[in-house]
Amino acid sequence: MIFKSPQYCIFVQNKSGMNTTEQVEKILADTSLSTELQNIAHKVLHKERITFDEGVYLYEHAELGYLGVLANFIREEKHGDKTYFNRNFHLEPTNLCVYDCKFCSYSRLIKQKEEGWALTMEQMLDIVKKYDDEPVTEVHIVGGVLPQYDVAFYSALFTAIKEHRPELHVKALTPVEYHYIFKKAKIDYATGMKLMKDAGLQSMPGGGAEIFHPEVREQIAKDKCTGEQWLAIHEEWHNLGMRSNATMLYGHIEKFWHRVDHMEKLRQLQDKTGGFQTFIPLKFRNQHNQMSNVPESSVIEDLRNYAIARIYMDNFDHIKAYWAMISRETAQLSLNYGVDDIDGTLDDTTKIYSMAGAEEQTPAMSTRELVNLIKQVGRKAIERDTLYNVVTDFENVVFEEEKKPAYYKLPVVNHD
Ligand code: SF4
Repeated sequence: MIFKSPQYCIFVQNKSGMNTTEQVEKILADTSLSTELQNIAHKVLHKERITFDEGVYLYEHAELGYLGVLANFIREEKHGDKTYFNRNFHLEPTNLCVYDCKFCSYSRLIKQKEEGWALTMEQMLDIVKKYDDEPVTEVHIVGGVLPQYDVAFYSALFTAIKEHRPELHVKALTPVEYHYIFKKAKIDYATGMKLMKDAGLQSMPGGGAEIFHPEVREQIAKDKCTGEQWLAIHEEWHNLGMRSNATMLYGHIEKFWHRVDHMEKLRQLQDKTGGFQTFIPLKFRNQHNQMSNVPESSVIEDLRNYAIARIYMDNFDHIKAYWAMISRETAQLSLNYGVDDIDGTLDDTTKIYSMAGAEEQTPAMSTRELVNLIKQVGRKAIERDTLYNVVTDFENVVFEEEKKPAYYKLPVVNHD
């Protein structure tokens, strides 16, 4: 499909003088638009939900400029200019894995053990301790699946982290790991998630979702938990009053309707539980994996995908972009296409992005850099904790190293 140059371009923060409602009204007044696109714009303006077929229609027919106006309208209705980020670090127990997902650039099968790592409990706690003096609020734990990392191991790890640093939020593991360890322990999901909560788990990241539909999932992520199982584990977690995120791996062999099917299943579960916080579209990267022959999506397609996600996922509060995966510039652009959260301030504690061929091979961004990245495109930077409580509003914060002296003292010659 060829996209003409966007008619309602908001590549940069809109300076036209029109507010977001007037921009949508301008779309509604455009008689050259199809009836379907008019109807969808009307629904968005009146905060009505779009249907599955309309979601597919957007992917197949909507231009980037049109999508940007609608997504930005929703984003600003929900959050204004606020753009969230959090300070966390990653703990990756192992990159060895019993599974063999075709898109995975990260895992080394057990037979390629020499290229991998598998940390002991002590090594993991040493990593946690390295951050004792850092102002991080969260540890994000995710990695490969190995038999020795079982229910007892992870329970002990979560408890040890909480005992060492009680205020650090433990966000850990996905249904891929939980399904595996609960099955091995012969316990059901409800019992297992309660055990994890009691051990110190506080929220779940969104990984392992990929594409739920079996037509795609069986080709790219055979053997690991199914889409239904992924959703069932999140449901049990939400039933305990806890929060989680959801991802979608897009831009590979899936069709547009598979993406809408994926988002529809998440939207339905969210209607039921209200436990999801954030939807995170993840761009497929094609380096160092078994799908290197599959081309990657363009930046235009990435932005269209964020925007459609923002329009479709009306019951999700937040849409997040991983700057390390899509580049700093695309992350800035995404803030005008529905994204209100950028992950995050990182050092080089994660290898997940760089091993897949992401733009950033050593992803590291200081708080000052991330705040400036957000401010440069006219948005307000808000540091949040995992549950979106405000930690620091950076609107009026001037970083120490940016403070310029008001004047420079010149040497004074004493003539006396
Ligand atoms: S995506 Fe996860 S489950 Fe699949 S091979 Fe990689 S590490 Fe293992």
